[in-house]
Amino acid sequence: MKVLVADAINEKGIDILKKECDVIVDTDISPDNLLKNIKDYDGIIVRSRTKVTKKVIKEGKNLKIIARAGVGVDNVDLDAATEKGIMVVNSPESTSITVAEHTMGLMLTLARKLAIADKSVKEGKWEKKKFMGVELRNKTLGVIGMGRIGSQVVSRCKAFEMDAVVYDPYLPEEIASQIGVELTDLNTVLKKSDFITVHVPLTPETNHLISKEEFKIMKDNSYIINCARGGIIDEDALYDALKSNEIGGCALDVYEEEPPKENSKLFELDNIVLTPHIAASTKEAQRDAAIIVAEEIIRLSQNETPQNVLNLPRMDNNKEYTPYIELCNKLGSFISQAVHGKINEIEIVYGGEVGELPNHELLTRSIIQGAVNPYLKDTVTPINAPIVAKQRGMTITEGIRNDGKGYDSIIKVTAVSGNERFSVEGTNLHGPRILKVNSYWVDVKPEGHMFIAKYEDIPGSIGKIGTLLGEDNINVGIMQVGRELDSGKAIMILTLDEEVPNELIDKLKDLDNIYDAVKLKL
Ligand code: NAD
Repeated sequence: MKVLVADAINEKGIDILKKECDVIVDTDISPDNLLKNIKDYDGIIVRSRTKVTKKVIKEGKNLKIIARAGVGVDNVDLDAATEKGIMVVNSPESTSITVAEHTMGLMLTLARKLAIADKSVKEGKWEKKKFMGVELRNKTLGVIGMGRIGSQVVSRCKAFEMDAVVYDPYLPEEIASQIGVELTDLNTVLKKSDFITVHVPLTPETNHLISKEEFKIMKDNSYIINCARGGIIDEDALYDALKSNEIGGCALDVYEEEPPKENSKLFELDNIVLTPHIAASTKEAQRDAAIIVAEEIIRLSQNETPQNVLNLPRMDNNKEYTPYIELCNKLGSFISQAVHGKINEIEIVYGGEVGELPNHELLTRSIIQGAVNPYLKDTVTPINAPIVAKQRGMTITEGIRNDGKGYDSIIKVTAVSGNERFSVEGTNLHGPRILKVNSYWVDVKPEGHMFIAKYEDIPGSIGKIGTLLGEDNINVGIMQVGRELDSGKAIMILTLDEEVPNELIDKLKDLDNIYDAVKLKL
């Protein structure tokens, strides 16, 4: 893979990348040159300087991955990348410890009035009485948003002998009890806590989550910290609460407007500590971000699915899914070529061990990708597959059965096209295998040129097909036949050394006792 490093990242990441990829570092690249040259690259790494716009994505004919060494992807047009099937990855874990440590720093700064004490000493004063502080020990920490950063803050606060109460309506109870925290509602957190720390994303639901009413509920001497995103705390209401000593103090790393206006009224207050959005700025976080995105690109170059793909569902253990991805792709491709006409619906059933995997979205996306790619020529990836299926009017349904019909795992894909239903079932046995086509059991490796014929199960049918193929100099690799005893029908699946010409397909269909003949390329 050829990768452009368009913004300065830590050398460690570049060294890792160089072991597997052709790496070009051009950290001053202009927007015009980026537009001109992006077609040469399979991947690009950016921080926040380089804007990966819709135009850049359109020109990136070979682009497969856009990696942001950091968390926010405001500089990447995520929708345009998704529509083109390009992965966007980031490195959310790289900053968790760093932000949690900054939060702890701010908590101690508030508890011990460190910032104003420092200012006072530098002004030549010695105001010992003014800076009476409080201990963190035995205080209650209220965490709003218990994700990566929130949980790191809790584990650090345990070392300070603090108790924690948490508001996170999306966190399962089991995980909360594993971490050893009490999950509760927002008002209880506000009412009980001495220190409140906010670690939620900014969404319509969390915008001004902490406003006038919430400050009223908080304890008089409580402190609040926001190292998440500006806008979660309503700054006007915060000013009023601090000015009137409704709460003890506040620390902010993020603001409704960044940087805040020069004359922001928050600057007048002594009971607020402000840092310039630096919670994630440590050498270690930058190094880890570079390493994480380099490893993500290497995963992709080795045909594995990267872990932090923003436009794909998160898989906690990608390796469990890897063996099924190729199978799913082949099953999708098989049915879409075998069925006649436009597919209206794809029904998928995961059976046995594959059915027990926690999330089938990536596998379903790979089936859709396989089903539409024969017609759309490599423009579909698991990322844009659901969009393409929707555009083509396909309905996708997914189900699970608890046995694998004698195999460890089995995946059944049925295509519905008008009145026709065509199904194929497969498993992974040292690579993809087709086990059943409609009601016929077979055992075929789906690869290369293939041919399927449905015929009357009487002597001579197989011979007639073989003779016609032979007359056209088409060599048969493997032949599998399956029969339906009740109906007297049978199916033949062949792997061939070359493609069957369309005229020969027509001739085969014209043979007596042959119901259907289709060719496939897998
Ligand atoms: P995360 O996705 O791991 O965790 C977010 C948590 O918030 C999740 O557990 C989620 O369930 C919870 N949540 C979502 N909506 C909620 C709601 N309405 N009420 C309560 N909980 C809710 O995210 P993270 O990596 O821990 O990051 C947390 C925040 O920190 C994000 O806003 C991120 O942008 C910000 N951040 C800031 C900096 C900085 O430089 N200051 C750096 C990194 C991250």
